[in-house]
Amino acid sequence: MARSSVIVVGAGVAGLACALELAERGLAVEIVERGRALGDGACSWMAGGMLAPWCERATTEPEVVTWGAPSIAWWAERFPGTVQNGSLVVAQSRDAPDLARFASRTERFEWVDAERIATLEPDLAGRFRRALFFPDEAHLDPRRALASLVETLRRRGVAIRFGVELALRTLFDHPTLASMAVAIEEQLIEEIESLSEEEAERRLTAIQGSQG
Ligand SMILES: Cc1cc2nc3c(=O)[nH]c(=O)nc-3n(C[C@H](O)[C@H](O)[C@H](O)COP(=O)(O)OP(=O)(O)OC[C@H]3O[C@@H](n4cnc5c(N)ncnc54)[C@H](O)[C@@H]3O)c2cc1C
Repeated sequence: MARSSVIVVGAGVAGLACALELAERGLAVEIVERGRALGDGACSWMAGGMLAPWCERATTEPEVVTWGAPSIAWWAERFPGTVQNGSLVVAQSRDAPDLARFASRTERFEWVDAERIATLEPDLAGRFRRALFFPDEAHLDPRRALASLVETLRRRGVAIRFGVELALRTLFDHPTLASMAVAIEEQLIEEIESLSEEEAERRLTAIQGSQG
């Protein structure tokens, strides 16, 4: 049976990770990237490389943990440079209430004292009295991770065509995407209609707030 073909638009971390997942599942994949080289214009090239879903959870929605927590194992399996030795969240003593608020909005951490901070991160010795330690979190070097994914993809026969821009207009002309857009729109309308008046107002205020 012929394998389905997929074109992934963009060789940032999202595009490369999707391409690899699809290739691992047996699909024929090709990536197009408007930049001339890996990382050219990509947000992923500038990222910090923290795989920190429980830290992120303090300021974001629960899906960040639902999807982010398993991503640590995903990276560890595919990129040997993945380091899983936790994250520290520190604050000056005057900001202790902010640290407590941060802690109240998330989970999977331990409170640690100055001595433990110095053991975990000697460069911070003597600078903070208390911190939050998230032992399950990880980090990686984003540029090395991207290069490693590209190499794995290359070995699987997935080509990246650099210097090719796919106009979004073209994508939405495609019948599969057009029908997906209709289905997504229907789902969204259904979700919005099921909201209570208060919840709808709460979300609207949040959206207006995020738009400054
Ligand atoms: C300073 C900084 C620090 C960060 N730190 C972290 C962190 O510690 N942990 C974390 O999880 N996240 C972090 N992030 C966020 C993270 O970098 C982004 O969420 C992630 O890189 C987004 O990846 P992406 O593949 O969606 O986008 P990008 O990396 O921007 O990739 C998109 C690619 O698509 C290409 N492209 C776009 N449109 C087209 C088109 N029409 N045709 C062809 N090519 C196209 C672009 O050229 C680009 O290369 C950080 C971001 C920044 C800026």
